[in-house]
Amino acid sequence: MAPITWSMSKNPLPDKLQPATRLVTAARQFNEHGMVNPAVYHASTVLFADTDSLTNRKQPYTYGRHGTPTSRALETAIAALEGGYDCKIAPSGLAAITAALLAFLKSGDHLLMPDTAYNPSRKLADTLLKGLGIETTYYDPLIGRGISALIKANTKVVYCESPGSQTMEVQDVSAIAAAAHAVGAIAMIDNTWSAGHYFKAFAHGCDVSVQAATKYIVGHSDAMLGSVVCNEKCWPQFKDAFETMGLFAGPDDMYLALRGLRTLDVRLERHQRNATVVAEWLRGQEAVDTVLYPALSNAPGHEMWKRDFTGASGLFSVVLKAKSQVALAAMLDGLQLFGMGYSWGGFESLVVPFKPIRTATSWTAEGLCLRFHVGLEDPKDLIADLDAGFARLAAAT
Ligand SMILES: *Cc1c(COP(=O)(O)O)cnc(C)c1O
Repeated sequence: MAPITWSMSKNPLPDKLQPATRLVTAARQFNEHGMVNPAVYHASTVLFADTDSLTNRKQPYTYGRHGTPTSRALETAIAALEGGYDCKIAPSGLAAITAALLAFLKSGDHLLMPDTAYNPSRKLADTLLKGLGIETTYYDPLIGRGISALIKANTKVVYCESPGSQTMEVQDVSAIAAAAHAVGAIAMIDNTWSAGHYFKAFAHGCDVSVQAATKYIVGHSDAMLGSVVCNEKCWPQFKDAFETMGLFAGPDDMYLALRGLRTLDVRLERHQRNATVVAEWLRGQEAVDTVLYPALSNAPGHEMWKRDFTGASGLFSVVLKAKSQVALAAMLDGLQLFGMGYSWGGFESLVVPFKPIRTATSWTAEGLCLRFHVGLEDPKDLIADLDAGFARLAAAT
């Protein structure tokens, strides 16, 4: 019996669907036998029907590393989420960033990277890419169309990350992408904060959008994955480079990411609602100097966020007035609901202290910085936890 696919058992979908509907319906054609979810294919060898199929690669699937219905379902769904042409899945967000940069840069090329990029992305540029003869210039994330002045004849990739890691600067991605295109360079973005749901990178001129799917797409802190979505122009070069590097992710993790993606819209909506309540409360606290959450009115980046984003995720930062590490430790070590740990995008609330790293601009705030991820707990409980934390901070200052 031929497998029954979901699309065969339903009427064709309309071309135009709202984002939440697309998350639920995307890539369902990879399901078989009427199941709502795809099978988890564990595969290396894929058998060919005959010599002609093998010689001329006449099958959709030819080898585990080149894709299975499980990987194609996730890739197709994330490409649909971001509004790009096609997608590859890497074993982590950082692996996705590395693959995307290596696919478009070679010795003698120049890369522009925001001063607020995710620290491991900076390390990649400063070590491995530098060793390959690829030069990186860091730029002010708020430079906008002024980026043109930094573009050189050998600039091949202009990289964005918006909002900026930890300090949340919202970039004028459309202006930066336009400046990149004016010289034939590629505009690439780390779109992890918006999960590709609240910022449509391709509609804002990007050619390549990378995400740590580890964060909101997986959404439950139990798998690490990265996605690279390209437009049609960049896809062949990227696909070839990615396959040449031999990258592939495990099927169980890819399944978890697809499962997470189906509920992305409702999870993000709640993360935003809770984060807004907590961030507004923080803004009213004596111990807080600044709240860096672009979704709040009057917060840095709010106008640009309002122009370009349709929502905000649960990640934001705070600059405290306190400068004492001892007082900070008293606050953080006693927290009961906010865990201390890296990564974010899961269901639980997290907090980490950080020190901004800058080489092209300067960070002038003197107080200690905290990055919060507001999870799906009731914000009343989260506020009570923080309130007790601020009491410990005040007592220890
Ligand atoms: C976490 C993160 C990454 C890296 O993702 P991993 O899956 O941890 O490798 C990249 N960019 C941003 C903005 C991140 O927050």
